[in-house]
Amino acid sequence: MTSDPRRGLPSVDAILMALPGVPRSGPGRTLATGAAREVLAQARADALQGAAASVEELASRTLSALEQRHAPSLVKVVNASGVILQTNLGRAPLGRAALAAMADAGAYSNLEFDLPSGTRGSRHDHVREAIRLATGAEDGLVVNNNAAALFMVLQVFGQGRQVIVSRGQAVEIGGGFRIPDVLRQSGAQLVEVGTTNRTYASDYDAAITADTAAILRVHPSNFQVVGFTAEPSLDELAEVARTKGVLLIDDLGSGCLVETRAYGLVHEPTVQESLSAGAHLALFSGDKLLGGPQCGIIAGRGELVAELRRHPLARALRVDKVTIAALNATLMQYVAGGQDTGVPVWEMLRRDPAALRRRARRWARAAGEAGAIVSSTTMVGGGSLPGQGVPTWCAEIRHSAGADALARGLREHQPPVIGRIENGSVLLDPRTVDPSEDRLVEAGVTRVLRQLAG
Ligand SMILES: *Cc1c(COP(=O)(O)O)cnc(C)c1O
Repeated sequence: MTSDPRRGLPSVDAILMALPGVPRSGPGRTLATGAAREVLAQARADALQGAAASVEELASRTLSALEQRHAPSLVKVVNASGVILQTNLGRAPLGRAALAAMADAGAYSNLEFDLPSGTRGSRHDHVREAIRLATGAEDGLVVNNNAAALFMVLQVFGQGRQVIVSRGQAVEIGGGFRIPDVLRQSGAQLVEVGTTNRTYASDYDAAITADTAAILRVHPSNFQVVGFTAEPSLDELAEVARTKGVLLIDDLGSGCLVETRAYGLVHEPTVQESLSAGAHLALFSGDKLLGGPQCGIIAGRGELVAELRRHPLARALRVDKVTIAALNATLMQYVAGGQDTGVPVWEMLRRDPAALRRRARRWARAAGEAGAIVSSTTMVGGGSLPGQGVPTWCAEIRHSAGADALARGLREHQPPVIGRIENGSVLLDPRTVDPSEDRLVEAGVTRVLRQLAG
């Protein structure tokens, strides 16, 4: 009988003994034991093929396996997809000022501390002024996201009462966020008026009763109704709200603060327009076209915002210090007129076509025979400006292994490079990539093609 080659392998404990710093118990021990078992199972299979491994060798393999297990699952990626606001990729990338402010606020800060008097302060005070300056609102409040903002406003002002919404706006915004459901959860009663394609100011007017708390307008962020359609303007709705003495709440979705036509896009309603037309409260996301951190901003009439701030939900939905820091820094870019260089969303939309073409060509060159450059469209995305995009140049990579294999190989690169598949090839759009990351894209392209060749 020949001896089993697996007999010569060390035990799990022996491998762990050979590793410095493995805890004797607790989760660190569990993790290390799991990694060592996995390595040993592979070593047993190898031993049957005649490959021996020393304790040192197995310990070193266990160490690599452990390092992988310790690595965070949330990592930076390079977004070459050509979609500026990608919910799957974390929506808006933050600008340098916002990132620096987050790092500072991450340590101790005067979050709820008034420095001159040495007494208790309010976290809300750190963004109120910036919201006022950037939007022209009397006051503003920040909560966890725009869904939370809408929920809170409806609950505080609409609970047990009626809220009027156009049939064409009683929609699903995305990810299961449905306006009728939010209304129900908030305790407000939804009153739908008009038809899916046409609603008039008179429909709202006729629906208002003594039980009506508000008119809610919802911006159609992620769809278009085309053809025979009508919705009253905000001015008309404000007129109805004023004469009947009900609130006008405008869920803007994106929170655009600038004229999008100046960036080659169609006009997107701005927060300033909404408030000056007469909306009592305008609600919007922090991480869509605003280009800031995830949060929901409620801007509008002073007495209404003050009531919201005092409500217990303000505590339940409050944002943390790093969000406040990033939002304030982002809003101040607009106040200073510096959004084209300080807020990446606008910086991307402003990129010079000639520079985009040069970068796309360099990326394509990294792909050799497999690369070409093509004109394409960068989409705004993220439930903003439905169907809207601007012209761009992309590197097009084509390979006999197929676009799926290429895209997957790029995703496996460190850091992952995310492209998009079109007509059997992978497109990489430089508009959504910071030029400082061009080398990462080129390295990713070179690597995946080498892998597919070998
Ligand atoms: C995106 C959107 C929301 C939800 O905003 P979050 O910040 O993702 O919670 C609500 N309403 C409209 C109109 C939107 O476009």
